[in-house]
Amino acid sequence: MRKKTVLITGGAGFIGSHMCEKLLAKDYRVICLDNFITGTLINVKPLLEDKNFQLVECNVASYIDIAGKIDYVLHCASLASPNDYLDYPIQTLKVGSLGTHNALGLAKQKKAVFLLFSTSEVYGDPLVHPQVESYWGHVNPIGVRGCYDESKRFAEAITMAYHRMHKLDTKIVRIFNTYGPRMRRNDGRVVPNLICQALNSKPLTIYGKGQQTRSFCYIDDLVDGLIRLMLAKENLPVNLGNPNEFTISQLSRLVLRLTNSKSKIAYKRLPLDDPKQRQPDISKARKCLGWEPVISLEEGLKRTISWFKK
Ligand code: UDP
Repeated sequence: MRKKTVLITGGAGFIGSHMCEKLLAKDYRVICLDNFITGTLINVKPLLEDKNFQLVECNVASYIDIAGKIDYVLHCASLASPNDYLDYPIQTLKVGSLGTHNALGLAKQKKAVFLLFSTSEVYGDPLVHPQVESYWGHVNPIGVRGCYDESKRFAEAITMAYHRMHKLDTKIVRIFNTYGPRMRRNDGRVVPNLICQALNSKPLTIYGKGQQTRSFCYIDDLVDGLIRLMLAKENLPVNLGNPNEFTISQLSRLVLRLTNSKSKIAYKRLPLDDPKQRQPDISKARKCLGWEPVISLEEGLKRTISWFKK
């Protein structure tokens, strides 16, 4: 039987490279697109020996031209760390808008299933807690995070338009904070920051008073959910994340304990528009995908710490 082909944009990034690896292991052909703005070749280097893996360097916000049959288009490409989208707001807007349009056009041409990697940021600084898919969000369109939040909200809107107008089989995942091996040391997000600071005996930077919350999902759990959604019938957005909610202070204490670090805490200014709380309601994923995370924060952090040590 012919192997199914999956094209993944942003395939050399943190989440993308784990998806490539898992899909190859599940016997798919994988075409990975990346412009290496935040993705790196190192993430996919071991996969280059696999004859079912193809790497194409390109910017999906400009144009996508790929020959041959494609069964699934996964649009994962994006800057995803607040640090990165503050540095590259225009690229962030372009990959979420023009990049999504191009990826949808490709899926339409190839009659492929399309999966948009959206984000919990579409809920902004939420007034509903935990966040359920039916919540429309509380986003500042002109704030510093607006470039990310609004590009993803646009991406969801154009995805639904292609679904309704062109009858494309589209899916939308809203990904909540995810962590694990292959995050960049200088990524800027809280988990790699705190782990690297603890391992290097530097002060752990906590923004604000550390009372803001996040719910952290280990990458392997997320990838399992993403593949289930890719194959599912659901066309409306589905939250994927771990519903266990922690304050950033609690996270910092856990990191200190698991790294045996004596680092102190350095309190820094809270970034503008930083959401105060975030926790996914995953009832829908449980029901339509039979999915829920199984890796605890402690276990996931241990695995991530040992990867950063190497
Ligand atoms: N944060 C922190 N110290 C850091 C990096 C981030 O206290 O070194 C906080 C940040 O202000 C936010 C939370 O940790 O409240 C998660 O930030 P991250 O950048 O990981 O992702 P976000 O969920 O905000 O997109």
